[in-house]
Amino acid sequence: MGTALSSRLTTLLLGQEARQRLRASQALMVVLVDVLLSFVCAFGAWAGLIDPRMAFGWSALTLVGVLAFYAVIRSGWNLRLSTADPALTLPQGVFSIFSTVAAYLICGPARGASLLAMAITLVCGMFALKPGQVQRLSVFSVLLLGTTMIGAHLRWPERFPIAEEALHFMMIAVVLPTIAVLAGQLSTMRHKLRQHRLDLERALEHNRQLAIRDELTGLYNRRHVLALMHKEVQRAERSGRPMSIALLDIDHFKRINDSCGHAQGDEVLKTFALTVGATLRDTDVLGRWGGEEFMVVLPETDAAGAACVLDRVHARMRELSFACAGGARGVSFSAGIAACGAGEALHAAIERADAALYRAKEGGRQRSVVAEGPNDAVLAHAASPVTSSAP
Ligand code: GH3
Ligand code: MG
Ligand code: MG
Repeated sequence: MGTALSSRLTTLLLGQEARQRLRASQALMVVLVDVLLSFVCAFGAWAGLIDPRMAFGWSALTLVGVLAFYAVIRSGWNLRLSTADPALTLPQGVFSIFSTVAAYLICGPARGASLLAMAITLVCGMFALKPGQVQRLSVFSVLLLGTTMIGAHLRWPERFPIAEEALHFMMIAVVLPTIAVLAGQLSTMRHKLRQHRLDLERALEHNRQLAIRDELTGLYNRRHVLALMHKEVQRAERSGRPMSIALLDIDHFKRINDSCGHAQGDEVLKTFALTVGATLRDTDVLGRWGGEEFMVVLPETDAAGAACVLDRVHARMRELSFACAGGARGVSFSAGIAACGAGEALHAAIERADAALYRAKEGGRQRSVVAEGPNDAVLAHAASPVTSSAP
């Protein structure tokens, strides 16, 4: 109950989208810091160090400013205002510098402490801004403070004595550029880390592909196709929809190797893989089963549907020819199709497809044969396998 309420409150305050939530939470944190600084100001007023009206005015203006930034981010306006800096870090930083300089002017003898807020602003910027932006923000802060100090000393020399102002200025002129240099180093480190992570992700993906793909054709290898087949069988059992597999074997491939050379044989394998792949649906799976044999998995397809798909592949293959020994020759294949029966072990369906392929070869090649169903032993005598031979 409590968790649901707090999660609803968080969504109300920060929104739904992950990156906008982060930006809104950062803006809210700035609001919180300024609320705390307002309490510090109130304490200064209570202790007689700060003029109470000034303390109230500063707190009110600062809180209105930071709440406005939060409102812009929470409403999503920030996305329209700036695509380069949607967190509005730079404008928030500039606002915070102005607010710190104003605090410096009203804090009387405690004004040195207000300069800490300037350092906090730049430290926050270190994590979000580019090093060049932090450097420019630091130069801007030093110049703004220097000019303000000179102006304040000229206007109220007794409240802003030259020695104290010089001391404060020197402190800030040392601290802020140091933060800017550190920001540069931090950014370089972050960049290197990000690059390492990307390299690692790329290497992992490369290894994953090596483990699941056949090197020559780029198709899934036998192990991965088997894994995918197991998944598809489970899915088919859950949904009650049919699923078929087809084992394809290039006809007389040995002759192609013998007459055209092994390298040309490899090219034929690659072209064969590309052509079959292009003829199948996106949801079908094609893998290299081994040598010149390929496995096709056809989800949500019964045996008749699979035979239709294979007819299309046969037709496509007849259009194909490749250069061999100074002439051109075609390539054909035979296929064994098996519809996976409910509750049938996958290896049994594969065996049936293999037996059907054997029959396709025996029947004269360049054709598909649909295997009898797993429970059709009784029917086998009546229903001879459907043979789809390519003319
Ligand atoms: P069938 O019509 O009965 O299938 O005859 P086939 O010649 O295709 O079958 P067989 O099993 O006798 O020969 C398959 C040949 O495929 C033998 C093998 O050298 C060749 N082969 C297997 N893998 C590759 C490969 O990666 N590249 C090349 N070029 N040839 C391969
Ligand atoms: Mg073979
Ligand atoms: Mg063969």
